[in-house]
Amino acid sequence: MSERFFPDSMPQPMADATTLPWWQAAAEHRLVVQRCTACQHTRLPPAPICSECRSTDADWKEVSGRGEVYTYTIVHRPIAADQELPYVIAVIALEDAGGVRIISNVVDVSPDVIAVGLPVELVWEDMSADLAIPRFRPRRP
Ligand SMILES: [Zn+2]
Repeated sequence: MSERFFPDSMPQPMADATTLPWWQAAAEHRLVVQRCTACQHTRLPPAPICSECRSTDADWKEVSGRGEVYTYTIVHRPIAADQELPYVIAVIALEDAGGVRIISNVVDVSPDVIAVGLPVELVWEDMSADLAIPRFRPRRP
């Protein structure tokens, strides 16, 4: 079992036909981005059509989970029962994902430390047996 950062009462994401492979990879603790097989453009969240060339052909590229904080906000109001406050929602620029950014949380961080450009690394949070959420924490040396 992974570390836990958010309570079970958090709203759960819903997979659909386009995003299901992404969630299945996440359940295996693999962070992937969708990659167009026609032009190699990467995208996240998954989408049925490439925004660059309109191809519907795509595969999945596993990425390291390293990146940096592109922007963030500090939340002081809970959205779920038993939630620790404040918490950080951030846009993470992934370093080996073709320019893709992911919206997630930065955990294990004081609001005094969070900053644009802060190097972060992936940490998985298992919310249940088949749902893992990628979170990020300050990169450890
Ligand atoms: Zn394309």
